[in-house]
Amino acid sequence: MGGVNTVANRLADTPTVRDTVLAAATATRAFIRGEAHELGSAMAHAWIFTGPPGSGRSVAALNFAAALQCTDPTEPGCGRCRNCHDVFADSHTDVLHIVPAELSIGIKPMREMRTEAVKMPTVAPWRVIIIEDADRFTPEAADAILKVVEEPPAHTVIIMCAPSIDPEDFSPTLRSRCRHLYVPYPSIDHIVSLLIDECGATSEDARLAAVASNRHIGRARRLVSDADAQQRRASILNLAEMVFHHDEAFKASTAFLKTVDKQVKSLSDEQDAGELAELERALGKGGRGKGTQRVMDGSAGMVKDLEKKQKMRRNRRNRDFLDLALVDLAGLYRDALMRAVGADVQLTHPDFERSAGDLAGRVSEPGLVECLDAVTKAREHISVNVTPTIAIDGMLGRIRLACGVS
Ligand SMILES: [Zn+2]
Repeated sequence: MGGVNTVANRLADTPTVRDTVLAAATATRAFIRGEAHELGSAMAHAWIFTGPPGSGRSVAALNFAAALQCTDPTEPGCGRCRNCHDVFADSHTDVLHIVPAELSIGIKPMREMRTEAVKMPTVAPWRVIIIEDADRFTPEAADAILKVVEEPPAHTVIIMCAPSIDPEDFSPTLRSRCRHLYVPYPSIDHIVSLLIDECGATSEDARLAAVASNRHIGRARRLVSDADAQQRRASILNLAEMVFHHDEAFKASTAFLKTVDKQVKSLSDEQDAGELAELERALGKGGRGKGTQRVMDGSAGMVKDLEKKQKMRRNRRNRDFLDLALVDLAGLYRDALMRAVGADVQLTHPDFERSAGDLAGRVSEPGLVECLDAVTKAREHISVNVTPTIAIDGMLGRIRLACGVS
């Protein structure tokens, strides 16, 4: 079948997103060909893509970039030309994709971004800058962005991806200078076919992952392909049952937190070592002689900076894993509540249907609401850097009370 990987097809599941980015790309073509004197109202230099976590904001941004850079004369985002191919492989020279590893985006990467933004594109019509987690700008970084957005270079498009445009996340000035596009959750069927195509999942596994992840594409992908993620989900969901067995729940939560630490460590160790080796190579470590010694004296600060960055990344990974696990747990209590009130809805965790039924039989409706509330509180605590053990044990204490376990 021809044309399967076109932008139009890739975004078929979210028609508003598809139509908006294709209209924008088409408008720029008329301008570039000299048929229009202005870019036209369909296009803007600065965009904010928002949508719930996992809805595919960055996927939408990449599709937009492909449509802009595509060289096919008739179909923007043809999926076949070199530019399309490179954009989708996330390796296009004129597309800068910034994925912050830290909890906040500081001034330094945004200064670098500014330098990049003013460069002329080399092989494509545009310089496209995609910034993920753009709600994490520090005020200084937001100022730096605002300067580019207020006077954008003629050939530059900036796409910022964020969960929302809450005033807390974006300064009103920055918001008012950007075009806003909402990226909704894709359908279950869309995610299922994506997981079958991309990960080779069976349709049964793909459907479970799509439902259990609440249509969060990234999590669904991990659930079908990452054994660690499967283990984290099973461990946290089992906690709901452990609560009824005296101190088992606390033992299980301690074991769970240890597992998360271990998984973060194995994910980070190699990456950290590679970055350190690269920095040392760049600094000329391993060489001999006076010159080398002088370089080494000045480099201690840079190594320290890197180590600080790596520590922050581990911390963020750890908290992200915990938050996702707690979202899973909340899903189970929600399922139980739905069962308790007799609502005929799709369960979040169909494979834990029995647990949800057990909970619905054992715990009162207000008790289940209280359980959900306890999970929400724990997520809040983790997001403001409360020690995970304290946050989770506090949650378990409340859940035990709500479940009538003393
Ligand atoms: Zn193309």
